[in-house]
Amino acid sequence: EAEEEINFFFPKQQTLAVIKPDAMEDHKEEILGEICSRGFTITQLKELVLSRDLAEDFYSQHRDKPFYNQLVDFMCRGPCMLLVLTKENAVEEWRSMMGPTDPAQAQETAPGSLRARFATDILHNALHGSTSQHHAQEKIQFLFGDITSDLNSDGVFDSTLPED
Ligand code: UDP
Repeated sequence: EAEEEINFFFPKQQTLAVIKPDAMEDHKEEILGEICSRGFTITQLKELVLSRDLAEDFYSQHRDKPFYNQLVDFMCRGPCMLLVLTKENAVEEWRSMMGPTDPAQAQETAPGSLRARFATDILHNALHGSTSQHHAQEKIQFLFGDITSDLNSDGVFDSTLPED
């Protein structure tokens, strides 16, 4: 009953996290450990090497950016771990745990963040995290497909969610 009350005020949210190929090599266990110790529930998890098509689609919003081809090459170069994380305020909390996109900036402004600690440069930056509930829903459906339709019963995903 107490839990129901808490969930009323702080509804559970889901976000998509990705451990990128650079961090998979040396830091997977430590990152998973921190995710759990910060109170996220790992609701779905899958480890795979992204196909080029999948990586291109995943980052299609960056198609016109100068770094797009390098980004796609990097994302396919080895296994990634895809995670659906569940917690109240999960989207914002995971972004804050990761820190800024550029690890140089992360080291300045968020030295304890995962990117400050584990990222190499702005491209090889260890992790991905959705920037909004809308994007999280879209990417989780894209990557996990039908599996996630079962998760909607808790009200996290609402098809009426606005674009950012
Ligand atoms: N990226 C890059 N150069 C840039 C900006 C981004 O190589 O100047 C890469 C980096 O791996 C980043 C990804 O493209 O994580 C997606 O960029 P976005 O701006 O969406 O950053 P994020 O949401 O990952 O912090």
